[in-house]
Amino acid sequence: MAVPKRKTSPSRRGMRRAHDALTVDAFQECPNCGELKRPHNLCTACGHYNGREILSTEG
Ligand SMILES: [Zn+2]
Repeated sequence: MAVPKRKTSPSRRGMRRAHDALTVDAFQECPNCGELKRPHNLCTACGHYNGREILSTEG
């Protein structure tokens, strides 16, 4: 069985964990209805993207 030769030092462990932080999801206001939407994604509230309606919300 492969076994590590040396114990991981607190410094090495910290360096490994330096990339483990979670990031908060990006949100921006929809220019059409003001609802929060994800950037580069269709607004789920009004169906608009890039200044025009892509998805009809009525019906
Ligand atoms: Zn919208």
